[in-house]
Amino acid sequence: MRFLRVISILCACAAATTSVSAQGNPPRIKAVRLGKLWDGKGKVWSNAIVIVQGERIRAVTTDAGTIPPGAEVIDLAKFTGLPGLIDAHTHMTIYTEEALGVPMLKQVNNVNAGFVVFMARKGAMRTLEAGVTTVRDLGADQYMDIAMRDLINRGEMIGPRMFVCGYGLYTTFTPFKPGVAPPAGGAADGVPEVLRAVRQQLAAGADVIKMYASTGTDDDVTGFQTYSYEEIKAAVDMAHQFQKKIAVHSYGPDGARDAVRAGADSVEHATDMDDATIREMAKRGTFYVPTVDHNRYYIENGDKIGYAPGYKERLAAFIPRNLETVRRAFKAGVKIVMGSDAIYTMFGQNTRELSWFVKAGMTPEQALEAATVNAAALLGKEKELGAVAPGYFADLVAVEGDPLADINIVLSNVRWVMKGGVAVVDKTKLNAKE
Ligand SMILES: [Zn+2]
Repeated sequence: MRFLRVISILCACAAATTSVSAQGNPPRIKAVRLGKLWDGKGKVWSNAIVIVQGERIRAVTTDAGTIPPGAEVIDLAKFTGLPGLIDAHTHMTIYTEEALGVPMLKQVNNVNAGFVVFMARKGAMRTLEAGVTTVRDLGADQYMDIAMRDLINRGEMIGPRMFVCGYGLYTTFTPFKPGVAPPAGGAADGVPEVLRAVRQQLAAGADVIKMYASTGTDDDVTGFQTYSYEEIKAAVDMAHQFQKKIAVHSYGPDGARDAVRAGADSVEHATDMDDATIREMAKRGTFYVPTVDHNRYYIENGDKIGYAPGYKERLAAFIPRNLETVRRAFKAGVKIVMGSDAIYTMFGQNTRELSWFVKAGMTPEQALEAATVNAAALLGKEKELGAVAPGYFADLVAVEGDPLADINIVLSNVRWVMKGGVAVVDKTKLNAKE
């Protein structure tokens, strides 16, 4: 009875929303003029005009005569357009600011969820300012990621479109303390508990499943496998049964090897993967999200974060191994995806990962593909995200300079961002050269 009542309220809300938009004026058409446009479909346009209707792209053209009368014309002729970028590995709700004398590591413990979600809007804004209009968010407490996703989708918070996982699954690691229950959330040991935990995330409204199959996080770069092949396989099969993708965290090669063979959709971090695993990924189409740059961020900010001395050497030794794995995987034909693993104050630096990709042997265009078409395919949204083409979400970034000649243009010269047909960042007046 109660269940039915909830349903009828939901229906009433949906009807109300529909009737409001039906009564209102149709969304105004926008025409975005760009000097150049890299469309994510292999084409570079000169003097492109992107016609936007509501939250979608209606047409891409060079013929100004096709701009519908009454359209709002946005002149970005000085800039190069790109599809809205996708960061496939964030933790939007692990946002902190620098506070004098309070290590950022400590700031994230025992904090009220409402407080965290409200603060996280700032990281969300910085992420947009970096040109990132979509994120795959891979791990949050208390379903704060779901709250944030829904607030953004309702327009109550400004931020990137979020695909979220709820709790990542992890094996028991909490030392015994008298009178203290082990943490709930993503803890799951053995196949039955893994299945329960996957179902729990899906019931909570997760878009994707995340599983931690090895140790390693923050200043800890160990990569010891935690979940067995059987446990990973159970999670993968359950996620796929519900048409959801699954991302498997593994700092080291062993968890990645088992994750790939179990059918995971992506492996995260995955340093030192062996050749056979890399070949298998290329064959199966498993995506690799290497997250090289977050260790650079940790090295630069570790004292403020609160890492114990000695972290710099450890992290600095890990980065070249991580990068070398990207180089080998890319060469073998593995599809690489940009993921920042942004936490704390790293939001806004989401795209710095792309410069590592160029160091690993990609052209700037291939690096851009890692943040657009490849990432969209990993989300299963390749017909809606990651390109500037009719029917796609109107997610557009304008940069000053030529990103196909120098990837650093994307890192530092974002001037304007549109997400779902709405301009959310406009720095065109501030910085444009005359
Ligand atoms: Zn992560």
